[in-house]
Amino acid sequence: MPRIRPTRPQLEILGWLAIFLLLFSLSWRFQWHEELDEFIERHHNYPLDHALLALNISGFLGLIYSALRIRDLSREVDRRLQAEKHVDWIACHDTLTELPNRRFLDSICAQAMTDQRSQDTYAVFSIDLDGFKKVNDLLGHDHGDAVLKTVAQRLSSLFPQENVFRLGGDEFVVLSRRIGNPDLVALGNRIVSAIGKPFTFNGVAVDLGASVGFALYPEDGDEPGQVIRHSDCAMYVAKKQGRNLVKPFVPSMQDELAKRVRIEGDLRVAIRKAEIIPYYQPLVDLKENKIIGFEALARWKTASGEFIPPNEFIPVAEEAGLIVELTDQLLRRACTDALSWPSELVLSFNLSPIQLSDRLLGLRILKILGDVGLPAHRVELEVTESAIIQDAVTARIVLDDLVNAGVGIALDDFGTGYSSLSQLSNYRFDKIKIDRSFVASFESNDKQDKVIKAIIALGAGLGVTITAEGIEEESQLQRLQDLGCDIGQGYLLGRPAPIEEIAADQVGSRIRQRR
Ligand code: C2E
Ligand code: MG
Ligand code: MG
Repeated sequence: MPRIRPTRPQLEILGWLAIFLLLFSLSWRFQWHEELDEFIERHHNYPLDHALLALNISGFLGLIYSALRIRDLSREVDRRLQAEKHVDWIACHDTLTELPNRRFLDSICAQAMTDQRSQDTYAVFSIDLDGFKKVNDLLGHDHGDAVLKTVAQRLSSLFPQENVFRLGGDEFVVLSRRIGNPDLVALGNRIVSAIGKPFTFNGVAVDLGASVGFALYPEDGDEPGQVIRHSDCAMYVAKKQGRNLVKPFVPSMQDELAKRVRIEGDLRVAIRKAEIIPYYQPLVDLKENKIIGFEALARWKTASGEFIPPNEFIPVAEEAGLIVELTDQLLRRACTDALSWPSELVLSFNLSPIQLSDRLLGLRILKILGDVGLPAHRVELEVTESAIIQDAVTARIVLDDLVNAGVGIALDDFGTGYSSLSQLSNYRFDKIKIDRSFVASFESNDKQDKVIKAIIALGAGLGVTITAEGIEEESQLQRLQDLGCDIGQGYLLGRPAPIEEIAADQVGSRIRQRR
């Protein structure tokens, strides 16, 4: 039976009733009314009946006043209770999606810790949206908010709303009670496909995905907070491996995360101390057998003498928001080095995909060229196909700024992305770099040979220079020259080396000697 607790106004009424009853019983007990009658008799010349009438009326009015006052008080108390409830709700919910927030989740975890009797088992899903930043940047925050609300509704249609939490940004958590032995990967995939369903806002289609990680309570942690951290860790691994993946937590993921955290910390220090420097690999004109420039490749040598490859630290720099600083530092240094080369040599510099969605990139690059004094036509920027697809609108704006200033644009790792050939006609590329995976196998693989032949023909048709990457064998070089490939790059022609080791004329004469 639930206990009913009286409100304060009700207590007040009860108090007054008690006083009234006490006075009544006292007057009854001591016969006060008789004493009053006698008093009136004795003083019949006084206008006591009028005084008593006035007393009665004022008593009655007092009663009405008290009733009204009690009603007002009761309303005020109700209002305060409502306001308190609202404040509590706001503190524990996300006002945009109306889902419970991190604070609510923390309180549930704390409660679960104290309630040791519960035998319930849970799966915790951590969900992070793929492509949400693009929606916010390209379509504005209104669309971003609409997307978050729709995601919240879609999750709430799969799970009870009180079990879906928005932790902030595009991160959600779902607590799912396990009954029996549910297929949690399948459940994770249902989350992915619910979020991946097409969105259309004001006629604009929004393409969204989700990375999902999950962990089990109590198997993956003694306390719920730890299980949530583990499911986050699994989600992070899923995100790193691509879009729309579901990953269960395994303890080795923590080592990966710890390694990443360590690399990120070391990277910050390395950037601050300018320890990441460009190495240079020659780009060779295959018709004239002479060096026409160098590609700058970032090299990070740690204090222990270990080299961390760019494929490992560039993504960390991107995720940690360090890529702008790192690129500015490397480009400034590479441009300064390039000033000491003969004036016909070109500096080729790599941009990572994420940078092409930064509208100010073009301006920053041109400022560095201006500061150092390197003419724009001596610089070529390498971008990948995926970089252009990721954010096509901004990529075009950035590339146009640079091309108009005279900077060359090369399409790097051609053949490994997902873009269609229409990319080639949409952008004004000066160069296409055939990925080294084609060059590695084209001699033994007839089809690859035909692909390379076709790309070289395409380049000739479009007026675009073709570079072959990863030339390691003399026979590869010979075949590429026979096919009419314009430029070559690879260990055979020169490995990436620090500035002190690349006296351009020495490398050039070595290439001429070998031919
Ligand atoms: P990439 O731009 O395609 O660079 C060519 C990669 O192939 C370089 O690897 C180079 O050392 C390697 N390579 C060159 N010739 C040969 C060869 O004959 N055989 C083999 N097996 N490999 C060869 P690296 O230096 O490890 O760079 C890897 C990738 O990291 C680069 O691919 C580029 O996408 C990225 N990267 C490098 N430096 C930077 C940078 O400063 N900024 C950005 N955003 N990305 C960079
Ligand atoms: Mg490159
Ligand atoms: Mg490449």
